[in-house]
Amino acid sequence: MRTKIVAGNWKMNLDVEASKKLAMDISTDIQNLETNNTRIIIAPTFTNLYPVINLVGMDTRIEIAAQNMHQAKSGAYTGEIAADMIQSIGVNTVILGHSERRTYFNETDKALAEKVNTALQNRMDVIFCFGEVLEDRQQNNHFSIVEIQLKKALFHLKPQDWKHIILAYEPVWAIGTGETATPEQAQEMHAFIRNLLSAKFGENVAQEVSILYGGSVKPANAKEIFSKPDVDGGLIGGAALHSQDFTALIQAIQ
Ligand code: PEP
Repeated sequence: MRTKIVAGNWKMNLDVEASKKLAMDISTDIQNLETNNTRIIIAPTFTNLYPVINLVGMDTRIEIAAQNMHQAKSGAYTGEIAADMIQSIGVNTVILGHSERRTYFNETDKALAEKVNTALQNRMDVIFCFGEVLEDRQQNNHFSIVEIQLKKALFHLKPQDWKHIILAYEPVWAIGTGETATPEQAQEMHAFIRNLLSAKFGENVAQEVSILYGGSVKPANAKEIFSKPDVDGGLIGGAALHSQDFTALIQAIQ
């Protein structure tokens, strides 16, 4: 059975006190939920990872992830953070390839392939994001764009590496826009991705990898999206900043 996952990407929001409060609220709000089959992940900004871990690190239901990292081990990369640094505070999961990183910080497929390699060498789990822009979908190129993104960044991996990969299909036109892919559009793309993985890495890998949907998931639309057979959860932006909404999303996946 595939692992269900609800992951909150806090992006560049919340100072240290607000991050601690949100983490604590989530820890409290999920207390009475049956969450045994769900991985709950939150991704504060770099500066707030350590304070949040100190606060809720003992809560085994909540995992903490970083929003990015550099591919090099160390060196002259001003402003960047290495895998070892993230791991030295107890964080073993990282989001890579978010569309905001690709768009505003020019992250290329090549750089992402290197980042994935570094994460795997360090035995970290990766939430790997990808997805088409609106124009691609309007021109019916969304399947080929997604295929290229996956091939360039992930198709050099070995089947056993996939134990550490979580995929997050995030159509860029649905991120932070209030526009959501329909449950059918999400299912169609997730099934397409699973077929690609099956052809390249075998049916076992394809059936084991969790594929999250991301793009304006809210308590009002989550249940329908999460009910699709190839949707294994969500990567959540806006709604992850409110404990009650985030908790409702965790409830929606049960
Ligand atoms: C995201 O940034 O990954 C995301 C899905 O954001 P939102 O839920 O706000 O669309």
